[in-house]
Parts: sequence; structure tokens; C-alpha cells
Amino acid sequence: MDRSQIIPDDKKFIANTYARFDIVVKEGHGSKIVDSEGKEYIDCATGIGVNIFGVNDTVWKDAVTAQIDKVQHVCNLYYSEPQVELAELLCEKTGAKKVFFGNSGAEANECAIKVARKYSYDKYGSGRHEIITLKNSFHGRTIATLTATGQNEFHKYFGPFLEGFRYAEPNLNGIISEYSEKTCAVMIEVIQGESGVNALDGEFLRKVERFCKERDILLICDEVQCGNGRTGYMYAYEAHGLHPDIVTTAKGLGGGLPIGACMLFDKCERTLSFGDHGTTFGGNPVACAGAVSIVKRIDKDLLLEVQGKGAYLKKNISMIKNVKGVSGMGLMIGIETDRPAREIAEKCLQRGLIVLTAHNKVRLLPPLNITKSEMDEALGILKEVISQ
Ligand SMILES: *Cc1c(COP(=O)(O)O)cnc(C)c1O
Repeated sequence: MDRSQIIPDDKKFIANTYARFDIVVKEGHGSKIVDSEGKEYIDCATGIGVNIFGVNDTVWKDAVTAQIDKVQHVCNLYYSEPQVELAELLCEKTGAKKVFFGNSGAEANECAIKVARKYSYDKYGSGRHEIITLKNSFHGRTIATLTATGQNEFHKYFGPFLEGFRYAEPNLNGIISEYSEKTCAVMIEVIQGESGVNALDGEFLRKVERFCKERDILLICDEVQCGNGRTGYMYAYEAHGLHPDIVTTAKGLGGGLPIGACMLFDKCERTLSFGDHGTTFGGNPVACAGAVSIVKRIDKDLLLEVQGKGAYLKKNISMIKNVKGVSGMGLMIGIETDRPAREIAEKCLQRGLIVLTAHNKVRLLPPLNITKSEMDEALGILKEVISQ
């Protein structure tokens, strides 16, 4: 199939949920993507932060293919090495005590919601089930995670939504005014990705943590997007010295294959018991083997490198004419201009640069191993487009 067939057939046969950009992705290498016409792009989207070491990455590919040669799927009725290895690695790196694997960010958050409610039920009985999330947050597309998402535009058509979610302004008073004796958890993204790469204030986050600890409310960090080295920290909460009770992640963790993880720390280590939760595909050995190869590479040196690259990009972007603000941390960057982000993204695409949007901002999530010359090339295109 070529482009002239793929695009109309996509419109005909694929559910109409995506406003796709006008490019058929064919292949790639590292930070370069090649489309069906042979045109090359610098990839500052990584499939929304998923291809964290770029496309066609040898280390990840070797790990994945070696596992495919053994067995492609083991259901969760049996033990298998890659899942254990990944869980152990994640626990070592974070101090988490146990991990539940699903297949996506939404599933990781579903698990977190269930654990928070059960933790509270076990200790305090029923009725203490409310979860406070922030206005402008994004936690997924399933009914529960959609309800958790604090944006009205997502709360249309699909009701009735779940009970037990409250949306707070992103400040301590906001949290306090949504709090009651029914609250069991507060769920936050340390950096809000979808709503515009908004880095939350560390002081605010530490106050929230204290507020939660004093009331035995679980603090859930949704690190689906900002986790796994993306910000120059293994998980972004580390940048603020937080100690969450539950951390969820997905996107970059699998390096390209679907996987989600819900990490449980001391308080809720024993909350789930047999039969409380489960999944057929979750913790797939091929996805886990790939993820092991990703997590192993996110070490101190890489994290420092990511911080340096992020600072370099931010500094140079902020000097571009018409840029009104640059937000984010590490290689998770939001750019505010006075023009619609979609228009800028489309112009970048024409010039050979793939970027994302997040509300009114242009969003960059480049591979963590993007090179200096690739960054300069990307900066050149951004400058051309934005300063016009
Ligand atoms: C992408 C995202 C999700 C949802 O992940 P899916 O894999 O699409 O289900 C949840 N939370 C955050 C912060 C995200 O960025």
C-alpha cells in the first residue's frame, strides 16, 4: 500500500478519533523518522514519549528479539523471568516494594485507583473512597481515568461518570477545599504533559505530601509521561524529594511496546491480595524484556546528559523571536507562542521536524539519546517556523 491508498483507507476503516498529521510513518533510525515518500524528519515526539531511545534502537531490539525467540506470551498464572527482572529493577531504582504490570498508562492508573480505595477500605471501612486530582490533569481514557482527568472537555457524552473524584486548583488551598473525611488519595502529575507541560511547583508538592501523610491519604504520582528518565530524573518526583505511596508509569518504559506499571511503596505493599486485580496481557515477557533493557540504561550519566540537553534546548528556544515562554524539565519541553500550536506543528512537519502539541503549547519529547547536531537541526527549524 502506498500513501494514496493508506490515507483514504485509514479514514474509511479506522475509528474517527484522531486528527492525524499528514504523514505516513514508514521507518526510522535513532532520532530520524522516514515517511512513505522517503522524506526524513527529526523526531521530537517519539510517539508521545514512547520510543525513548529513538527508533530501531539496537539494544532494545536485541532484548526484544531474544525474548521472542523464547516465548512471546506467558499469562499471569505462571512465573516468568523478564517480568520479575523488571519489577526488581524498578524496586531497586525507586524503593518501591511491589509492582503490578498492565499494558498502558490508563491501566496503571486504574490499578492505582483500586489500590487507594482498598487501602482505605481495609483500614477505615467503606465511604473513604474519594480521590483528589488537579484541574487540568490528564490520567487516561478509560471511564475511571477519564473521570480522574480534571478537564471538563473530557467529561462530555460518556456519563454517568464514576463517583468519588474531586478536582482541585493546583495550590494547597485548592487541595484543602476538596478534602474531606471521605478522601483516600491525591493523584498528581509532577509535570502535567497533555495540558501543556506544566511543571508543578516543588514547594506546593511537598506541602501536599505533608498534608497527605498527616491524614493517611495516599499520594499517587502519575509518571506515565514524565517518568523513566524523561525529565533528567528516573522519576520526576525525585526532583522535589517526594515520597509518594504509589507511582504509575508507562509510555517510555517499554521503549515502544505497550506496558504500564503501578509501583506500590511501603504503605500499600500488601493492599492487593489474590483475586483483587489481574490482566491477561499485562507484564508480557517481550514488553518486559525490552523494558529491562531501557531501565538498565537510565543511569546517573544518562540522567545528567538529559538535564544538560534539556537546558541547552530550553536556553536556545527561549531566545527565538515570538517565544513567550518555555516550560518543562529535562527533555520534556513546552513552548508557548502567540500562534496556535497545531499550526506551528504542521509547519515544522513540512520542514522535516516532528513535534507534538499540548493545549496551546508546542511540546517536545525527543529521544533521550538525541545528538547535539540533531538538536541544532531541530532548533534551526523551530526558529524558522516560530520567528516568522
Ligand atoms: C498518556 C498518559 C496517560 C494515559 O496513558 P495511555 O497509555 O494512553 O493509557 C495517563 N497519564 C498521563 C500523565 C499520560 O501522559
